[in-house]
Amino acid sequence: MFANGLSYLAIPGPSVMPDRVLRAMHRPAPNIYTGTLHDVTRSLIPDLKALVRTRHDVAIYIANGHGVWEAALSNVLNDGDTVLVLATGRFCVGWGEMAEALGAQVETLDFGDTEAVDPDRVEAALRADTGGRIKAVLTVLVDTSTGVRNDIKAIRAAMDAAGHEALLMCDGIASIGCDAYDMDDCGADVTVCASQKGLMTPPGIGFVWMNDKADAVRGRKARVSRYWDWRPRVAGDEFWKLFGGTAPTHHIYGLREALDMIFEEGLEAVWARHEGLARAIWAAVDVWADGGPLRVNVKDEDARSRAITSLQLGEGQGDALRNWCEETMGLTLGIGLGRTPASAYFRLGHMGHVNGHMVLGLLGTLDAGLKALEIPHGHGAVEAASAVLADLSHAPGAAG
Ligand SMILES: *Cc1c(COP(=O)(O)O)cnc(C)c1O
Repeated sequence: MFANGLSYLAIPGPSVMPDRVLRAMHRPAPNIYTGTLHDVTRSLIPDLKALVRTRHDVAIYIANGHGVWEAALSNVLNDGDTVLVLATGRFCVGWGEMAEALGAQVETLDFGDTEAVDPDRVEAALRADTGGRIKAVLTVLVDTSTGVRNDIKAIRAAMDAAGHEALLMCDGIASIGCDAYDMDDCGADVTVCASQKGLMTPPGIGFVWMNDKADAVRGRKARVSRYWDWRPRVAGDEFWKLFGGTAPTHHIYGLREALDMIFEEGLEAVWARHEGLARAIWAAVDVWADGGPLRVNVKDEDARSRAITSLQLGEGQGDALRNWCEETMGLTLGIGLGRTPASAYFRLGHMGHVNGHMVLGLLGTLDAGLKALEIPHGHGAVEAASAVLADLSHAPGAAG
C-alpha cells in the first residue's frame, strides 16, 4: 500500500549502490590493452591496501566472496593440512567446508550463534596441536548470519601465546569499510573481501590481501592452480595477468568511485558513521524488547557488528515482519539465513551507503510492522534511536 517510491534494500549484501558508483559504471566498453583502464586499475592498489591498513600486497579476482575464499585457501593449503575453523555462525563454517573440498582436514571450535570467539579456547586448541598439523586458523571479522563480530587481534594474541605457526586468515567480506579493521595491527596473515557489501559495488570482484608469511607459504607449495595463484596478480608485470584474462572493466570504474567516496569521507569517519547508526538501531531494539519478543541476537555490544544486525522474534514472526515491510512499505530485509527456525529471524544490513534518515526510516517501518502485525513491543523505539543520533551529532569531531 505504501511501497511505491524509492525502494530500500536493507539486506546484508548486496548493499545499496550509490548513484555515483552506478554513473561511473555507465560507460561504453573501454580498451583493455592500453589507456585509462590501466591507470585506474593501478590506482586501486594503494587504496585497497589503505582500506585494510596493510603495507603488504593485494590480489584482485573476478569473483564473489566464495571465489576469494577459494583463492586464498588455494594459495596456502596442501592436501591433508588441517585448518581450524572458529565458528560463530554459518559463514566461517562455509569457508571450512570449502577447505575440506580442497582436501584439508577441518577441525571446528564452535562458539555458538550469539557469542564471539573465545581466544582462550583457541589458545588451548593450538597448544594441544603439538605436531603442528594445523596450518591455518579461519575466522570471520563479522559473521553475517548471526551479526557476531570477532576480535581478530585477540585471536592473534592467543595464537602467539600458544607459540603456534599457523596462518591467521580473516574473512572481512561483511564488514570491511564498516567495522573498524587494521590488518597489520591485528596480525592477520590473509584477509579476504568482496565488492558488494561495505564497498558499495556490484558483486563480481573480490580481494585477497596477504603478508610475507602467507606468501612464503605460497612459495613452498608444489603447485597452485593457475587462475587462483595470487603471485602473477600481485606482480602485475603485464596488465592482463592482474586478472588472469580480461579485466572486470566496469567493476574497476565502480570500485574506483566507491573508494573515492570512502576516502573523501575518511575511513575513520566511515567507521564512526556505522558505529553511530548501529547504536541507534540497538537503542530502538532495546525499547521494543522491553515489551515483547523482539531480541537482538548478540547481547555483548563489543561482539556486535556495526554493519549487520540479526534479530529474533517468535517462530514465523520474522518472516511475517519481513514480508510486511517489503510488500507494504518497500523496505527489503534479510532472511534468517542459517538459523533455526529461520522464520523467527531476520537481519538488517546497515552497511555502506547508509545514513541517518535511512536508518530512522528503517526503524520507523519496523515499528509500524510490529503494530500492523500485532506483535507485542515496547513503545518509543524510534524516539530512542533519534535521541542517540541527535546526541552523537554533537560528539567532538562529528562532521555532519
Ligand atoms: C557475503 C559473505 C560471504 C559470501 O560472499 P558471496 O559473495 O555471497 O560469495 C562470505 N563471508 C561473509 C562474512 C559474508 O558476509
